[in-house]
Amino acid sequence: MIPFLDLNEINKPYVRAIEEASLRVLRSGWYILGKELQIFEKSFADYCEAKYCVGVANGLDAIGLILRAYDFPERSEIIVPANTYIASVLPVSYLNLTPVLVEPDPVTMLIDPHKIEQHITPLTKAIVCVDLYGRSCEMDVVMDIAIRNHLKVITDAAQAHGAFYQNQKVGSIAHATAFSFYPTKNLGALGDAGAVTTLDADLAEKIEYLRNYGSRERYKNEYLGVNSRLDEIQAAILNVKLPFLDKDNTRRREIAKRYLAEIKLQNLVLPPADRISEDAWHLFVVRHSDRTSLIRHLDQAGVQTNVHYPLPVHKQKAYANLNHLELPITEKIHDQVVSLPLNPILTDQEVSHIINAVNSFENQQ
Ligand SMILES: *Cc1c(COP(=O)(O)O)cnc(C)c1O
Repeated sequence: MIPFLDLNEINKPYVRAIEEASLRVLRSGWYILGKELQIFEKSFADYCEAKYCVGVANGLDAIGLILRAYDFPERSEIIVPANTYIASVLPVSYLNLTPVLVEPDPVTMLIDPHKIEQHITPLTKAIVCVDLYGRSCEMDVVMDIAIRNHLKVITDAAQAHGAFYQNQKVGSIAHATAFSFYPTKNLGALGDAGAVTTLDADLAEKIEYLRNYGSRERYKNEYLGVNSRLDEIQAAILNVKLPFLDKDNTRRREIAKRYLAEIKLQNLVLPPADRISEDAWHLFVVRHSDRTSLIRHLDQAGVQTNVHYPLPVHKQKAYANLNHLELPITEKIHDQVVSLPLNPILTDQEVSHIINAVNSFENQQ
């Protein structure tokens, strides 16, 4: 069986370096807000071509801390994509802001920038763009709408480390960008971790306060902050892995390119192929009207798949207040998507096996 993602194998090349880095932190006697985090923040800001990076505890908090820092009045409306993981929307709700769900473009499955403006009201304060599956949203259109309507743009780039939009690095385009380093992401820690990148010095500074009880100087609290810090061991592990992110993304792009060229199954919708070398290919998401049979077929052929995601945010029990919404494009996507294995440790033979397994589905229909 080709596993969807084998984290043990993903991290194998780094075992020695991770052991050394962890031991170094252990022996330093300094475990929170120290040297490793400082190094990581500097390196990740440089990597993203952003001015500032603030490490936080996870991706969810990265989005939440950006929203908190902007200090929008309660009940402000925040535009969010309807096709996303629930973590993009929850932070809006926590702060008593109102998420306004916008349908995706059916081809890219990302927020449809041409549907944003019709949802803007006098209460709208920000747009959350989610670079889902590793592809940047149409940022020229989004930023133009934001500027004309005096809105902030927040990117959820939890799946898009190292992606580009028109030669600009994700992390340097929106007013603020949230990253997750959850172990399965393109850059993954061995636990929870996240970061905010921005070009805005005031915003970066405020998030530095907010992540640590509203304090940058011991026992002096400027804001009602939270505890959301990126710890030294995770920062040290990320320092080990960051230098290899581009190499990993290059391998992801090679595999995506092969899938796009060699998968020839009628009625299977492939992801867009127009930005192979810009997208970060966190996931390779295909669509089929008979998803259940395709998954079963692939499983029998020794290919493990996944579904990102089976139930949309507005149909979740947790969002009972949104259950009445009808978002047909989003709902259809959730009924049809299947993610094929795509990660930097897949061998050429495994990629061929996956392609053949998909292509042989036709015969069974
Ligand atoms: C993983 C993910 C998050 C949340 O990241 P955590 O570190 O798990 O909090 C948010 N948004 C998207 C799109 C994600 O994939």
